[in-house]
Amino acid sequence: GDTIGDNLDRTIARFPEREALVSVHQDLRYTYSQFGEAVDRTARAFLAAGIEAGDRVGIWSPNCAEWALVQYATAKAGIILVNINPAYRTSELEYVLRQSGCRMLVAATTFKTSDYVQMVGAVRDNIIGLEQVVFIGRDWEEFIARGERSSAEELRARQAATQFDDPINIQYTSGTTGFPKGATLSHHNILNNGYFVGRGCRYSEADRVCIPVPYYHCFGMVMGNLACTSHGACMVIPAGAFDPVATLQAVQDEQCTSLYGVPTMFIAELEHPEFGEFDLTSLRTGIMAGSPCPIETMRRVVSEMHMEEVTICYGMTETSPVSTQTAADDPLDKRVGTVGRVHPHLESKVVDPETGAIVARGEPGELCTRGYSVMLGYWEEPEKTADAIDRARWMHTGDLAQMDEEGYLKIVGRIKDMVIRGGENVYPREIEEFLMGHPDIADVQVVGVPDPRYGEELMAWIVTRRGAELDRDAVAEFCKGKIAHYKVPRYVEVVSEFPMTVTGKVQKYKLRELAIEELG
Ligand code: ATP
Ligand code: MG
Repeated sequence: GDTIGDNLDRTIARFPEREALVSVHQDLRYTYSQFGEAVDRTARAFLAAGIEAGDRVGIWSPNCAEWALVQYATAKAGIILVNINPAYRTSELEYVLRQSGCRMLVAATTFKTSDYVQMVGAVRDNIIGLEQVVFIGRDWEEFIARGERSSAEELRARQAATQFDDPINIQYTSGTTGFPKGATLSHHNILNNGYFVGRGCRYSEADRVCIPVPYYHCFGMVMGNLACTSHGACMVIPAGAFDPVATLQAVQDEQCTSLYGVPTMFIAELEHPEFGEFDLTSLRTGIMAGSPCPIETMRRVVSEMHMEEVTICYGMTETSPVSTQTAADDPLDKRVGTVGRVHPHLESKVVDPETGAIVARGEPGELCTRGYSVMLGYWEEPEKTADAIDRARWMHTGDLAQMDEEGYLKIVGRIKDMVIRGGENVYPREIEEFLMGHPDIADVQVVGVPDPRYGEELMAWIVTRRGAELDRDAVAEFCKGKIAHYKVPRYVEVVSEFPMTVTGKVQKYKLRELAIEELG
């Protein structure tokens, strides 16, 4: 029943002198008491700027200390934070600002090669209602200084009026399968989820969590920041955007005990030529999540990165995000081969997508989730909300899963990615998992491409291990006698990387489009 602001204040009172936040790339450090003061100053700046409870404020920036300050300041002041993907360009930015009705935008000045000042300038006048823009690194100090015009009492009153089930955050989904949707989340949704994720990693005030995953996504702001602040742990930001060397360096220099990433990030770290030069022995745990976690990668993370207690989480933006997690005391095969069991205070079921009936244990079906973490809805899209959440409050995930007798879940793929080849259902995930066992394959994606004879055929997109070469015949030879003939990829393409969302997820629909172009 806490709000995010009340929960933060309680942690500050318990651990005032412990470190709360380190932004390595900005060379900034805050203890919990310093962090609390900075959050309050930021919150008062929003009050002085005339932002009311329930108003929307957008944030468009790579990971930095100001991002975290804005996250907690808006929550304290009852303002709805709208997370905007740093990879967006003007048309997407304009869409999100308009769709969520932002009154104010806090933005970085640049990101990679993009000039945010110029892009904001290009859309600003088109958005009625967007009254103020604050650029971090340009007008931030002035914005904070204006906070003096509002009082600490005003902020306390605003915080006290904030309810635990008020909407506090609009997060657009990753856009892996198409256009992003604005999941609307409450304090209750994300604070509890952050707390239980942290409990799943056995966090305490002794932990230091390296967060190379983006803040704009719940992986960074909920599983990262809220998991830390609800347990008194320290948030460590290595860089603005993911960089394998900066991440490994931050783990070593900041003595991190936990490291996060989507599978592609862990693969990039493990495969980096300088990997062996870093001392990672401070690591104990971490989280791999966001897309299918290859068993082989999990094993390497456990043995080569010292993350003996690493957990896998499964979830989606719409469920705050985590709904299942492996536990450090699960048997090893469950810890590397499943996404664990359902989290406390949540329910899971696997159903036939056509009839809605629960399928037998071990059978694939659509995974549904129910409980405190299910979003309030998609922002101003009641029809899409009704498609996703049924009348009994079950969130239909669009993911295919199998549940075993003990309740461990395996994600077999997304309903949208399933391939039907000559009448056989093929789950690309299963073939990817098998091919990951090839010594020359670092990463692989399997997609269906149209075929006049079989309806669909399989194409494997492969990233090879350093220096290795591979072709279709070698892949076919590897598969021979080990997987059914109809699962052997008909086409093989070797590439250096996959098209990805900024959250590091492979956009299979883009690989499908490329495949169709390639095959003419
Ligand atoms: P969009 O809904 O816009 O297409 P998205 O579904 O990728 O994008 P997110 O909410 O960021 O947006 O991601 C949730 C999805 O990520 C899940 O529905 C699931 O398909 C996938 N996922 C998350 N964790 C795991 C995991 N551990 N194993 C397999 N898949 C996962
Ligand atoms: Mg989704």
